[in-house]
Amino acid sequence: MHRRDFIRIAALAGLGLGLNSSQALAQLAMLSPVEPAPADDVRMRDYFEKMRNFEKAHPDDVYVDAEELPVLHACSQRLGLVEAVMGYGFFHLLSFDDALICSRNYERVGAFTKPEIGFMEKIFYQDARVYGFLGDKPLKNLTHSVPRNEVVRIASTGNFLHRGDSFEAYQKIRKSVGNRVVLTSGVRGIMKQFRLFLNKAAQNNGNLSVASRQVAPPGYSYHGFNDFDVGQPGFGDLNFTERFTTTDAYRRMADLGYLNLRYPRDNMLGVRYEPWHIMVSDA
Ligand SMILES: [Zn+2]
Repeated sequence: MHRRDFIRIAALAGLGLGLNSSQALAQLAMLSPVEPAPADDVRMRDYFEKMRNFEKAHPDDVYVDAEELPVLHACSQRLGLVEAVMGYGFFHLLSFDDALICSRNYERVGAFTKPEIGFMEKIFYQDARVYGFLGDKPLKNLTHSVPRNEVVRIASTGNFLHRGDSFEAYQKIRKSVGNRVVLTSGVRGIMKQFRLFLNKAAQNNGNLSVASRQVAPPGYSYHGFNDFDVGQPGFGDLNFTERFTTTDAYRRMADLGYLNLRYPRDNMLGVRYEPWHIMVSDA
């Protein structure tokens, strides 16, 4: 189905006409195939433009309230301190409750304040579609925790993978591609995802839309489930850019059919193209 047709069906459904999908298809069939839909085309062009320029603010972007901005910065900073105290590796597995306990126990972190806790609860339970993230939410509970015995530490990466499908998929890739590919991000619990997402929002004046085009909001990331990121050793942060597609690791994985991407180019999930993010299975 053409994208434009899909939008027309979605629009019919959105008009509240009470159409089910087959009725909507029948309606679609009645539309002239040459009928122009300029408004839809403009909307789609605008959407893809926004995704390609994911780092730029857009007129439709949604920001945190002005009075929440200091709280956002405070959370972001405190999460950094929690990570420093807990260690980079273990922080990946930290739950919300554990983070609160840690913040109370370590003087150099300092307890999360009531407004900070309230802000994180709001971010977690707010519907991310409001600011443009259109993917599923595999982790629905703020207090979700990752049992230590369900994950495997991957040597010299500082990352973990879930036992089972995720670990097996990575093993298979390593067996075929060898040392040219490495795990760059595996399991990410709720707090790690908070840290990445809130950092991005804080760096962009509280713009939640810019943040969510690049980092799934907490609860919405499949790193909390089975997905993982791969990169080429020595390529550093460039592994998380489109330049990853120029590496041997990428080419080899593409040739072998391992690039089952969660966020392919021009996806309709409100997320930038992520050629490094391997989709393992759905929650
Ligand atoms: Zn990823």
